[in-house]
Amino acid sequence: MKKCLYCGREIPEESVVDFCEHCGVSVFGEKMFKAIISNMEDARERNDLVHRKDFGIENEEIEKKPEI
Ligand SMILES: [Zn+2]
Repeated sequence: MKKCLYCGREIPEESVVDFCEHCGVSVFGEKMFKAIISNMEDARERNDLVHRKDFGIENEEIEKKPEI
């Protein structure tokens, strides 16, 4: 288990981001949070997900993802 950056709640190790859904939604907004998740899951599928110590997720990366 790892812990949410914001509230310290435990989140599954396989989670693609270092924060829980609740905090993700409150920080980024639901739409952005979902975009981040799907972007990160895509990246993981390509095996190029690097460990991010911060949540330095750039808007440009999100925008690369086509609208669902
Ligand atoms: Zn949290």
